[in-house]
Amino acid sequence: MVKVAEEWFAVCGGCEISILDIGEPLLDLLPQLDFVHIPVLMDHKLFGQTGEGTKIDIPKADVGIITGGIRNEENREVALEMRKKCDIIISLGSCANFGGIPALANMYPNEAILDTVYSTTASTEAADAPSNVPALTDRVYSVNEVIKVDVSLPGCPPVPDWIVTALVSLLESKPFSLPEKSVCDVCPTVREKKTDSTTLRRPLQNAEFTTGRYDNMRCLNEQGILCLGPATRAGCNYSAFASAEEQVPRCVKAYMPCRGCFGPIRPGANPMVDMMGAISSIGLDPKQIEDRMATFNRFIGSGRLRPLPTRR
Ligand code: SF4
Ligand code: SF4
Ligand code: SF4
Repeated sequence: MVKVAEEWFAVCGGCEISILDIGEPLLDLLPQLDFVHIPVLMDHKLFGQTGEGTKIDIPKADVGIITGGIRNEENREVALEMRKKCDIIISLGSCANFGGIPALANMYPNEAILDTVYSTTASTEAADAPSNVPALTDRVYSVNEVIKVDVSLPGCPPVPDWIVTALVSLLESKPFSLPEKSVCDVCPTVREKKTDSTTLRRPLQNAEFTTGRYDNMRCLNEQGILCLGPATRAGCNYSAFASAEEQVPRCVKAYMPCRGCFGPIRPGANPMVDMMGAISSIGLDPKQIEDRMATFNRFIGSGRLRPLPTRR
């Protein structure tokens, strides 16, 4: 029996839904797993069941799963405790691995965020920021910026079949890694390496496609719909039960462009530079994208986004 602890930090809860989305294979796995701590499912308190503890305490576990980035000092302390008590740490989802959507806030100082949220938003009755909650960290951190992570499973939300594959690999002591390819490398759309439309279309404008077909759909970037496939790691197409032809990148499968949720193809890659090169090479001017910093780093802001210099 493998003991599992799970914690969630700055999250929407979608990563936990991905665990449930494993579906029937989860039933085969469950007899081998003993969940000792998982706040989304069971009421296990951090300071003892009646608050009698004086420090955060998580039971020992073989595997620790963490979702969400680190946004406050409590998240940081719990992450350190998870590292201390768990032999293997899995960071699950784009928020845990790269900060995710919450890390877009790294473009602003905390004071500006609190001011907007509690005082200046048109629909808000101005109030002081609460003082009886854990203090914000200076920015959103990915889990691996705070503790050592053994297995990274990105995706917003992550892919259930990767969760099973990773868990089974751990149970069988086999190595596990994600492909080092781009979403384009596994995308079946037709590429002519040039665009017919030099003007980018609005993201929600419909692509041209034939329902149920992907092999006669023109690449979305070439249709003038910004797609981050060239600079994003492949993997969202993975399904343990589908044929290779059926394994189409998740957004493309819905005739929508990739937004980059699997993060860079390899550590250290710079998706903004890669995307500027990719779209320029087919004839699109990247200057059309007004908010290039946030657009190209939408899910990976922990390492890349910082407050913009104030204009004088
Ligand atoms: S990675 Fe996506 S699904 Fe998971 S917590 Fe973050 S926003 Fe939600
Ligand atoms: S840019 Fe998008 S649509 Fe075009 S090949 Fe890459 S993933 Fe597919
Ligand atoms: S196509 Fe891109 S944004 Fe969509 S799920 Fe895959 S990696 Fe994420």
